[in-house]
Amino acid sequence: MTSVLRELIAGNWKMHGLEASIAEAVAVAAALDGDPPASRVAICPPATLIDAMSKALVRSSVLVGGQDCHTQIQGAFTGEISAEMLVDVGARLVILGHSERRAYFGETDAMCADKTRAALRAGLEPIVCIGETLQERQAGETLEVVTRQVRGSLPQELRGQPFALAYEPVWAIGTGLTPTLAEIEEVHVAIRALLVEVLGVGGEEAPILYGGSVKPSNAAEILAVREVGGALVGGASLKAEDFLAIVRAAG
Ligand code: PEP
Repeated sequence: MTSVLRELIAGNWKMHGLEASIAEAVAVAAALDGDPPASRVAICPPATLIDAMSKALVRSSVLVGGQDCHTQIQGAFTGEISAEMLVDVGARLVILGHSERRAYFGETDAMCADKTRAALRAGLEPIVCIGETLQERQAGETLEVVTRQVRGSLPQELRGQPFALAYEPVWAIGTGLTPTLAEIEEVHVAIRALLVEVLGVGGEEAPILYGGSVKPSNAAEILAVREVGGALVGGASLKAEDFLAIVRAAG
């Protein structure tokens, strides 16, 4: 951990969770508020649960976030949710440009940059996701791909603003596969240099999260890698016990 800002461990519940699942978030908050962790902790549930979860965690240090937002404040965009609406129900952060949104909903780097601007406009802390596919990794294109994604997905408006970048190799998400620690370090160190080049001093401070099959058994070694400033956790964030073990592994 070399970044100046505190580590961030964020759970991405994806399209999982009904109202009863808020009990898992409450269990996480109860454990962490009694014994505060070194890192910041956030849970990003489906949009339907943000309001109730924010209310349940109102006295907790555990933050609540969204998983996406639209670029506009309001309008005729059926099914969409604006950054301002997320703030209105208690969200403090928002995941943007997740590989599932890029793969299934056609999101591009430019759209991610526009959504990042919208998040900043509303006062949300963006967690911008990038990462290569297996085909790109096998073709030796990883650094080229993440360089293009960093340049295209991060707007200049991020200068001086709190944000996190999540490096998530697409082939590691939900598969149980992870890059070697050396491979994670290579990409994170390259991303740090790029962030400084693209965003100046602020680029030195933003935590660079690793995401992709982080679980209690591998969290400590991954979080100890140079320039890994936290984790974006999918499957293992759904159960309080597993998510707490990952948060504790961060110190
Ligand atoms: C994710 O969806 O951001 C993710 C990292 O998922 P998982 O931890 O399940 O691989």
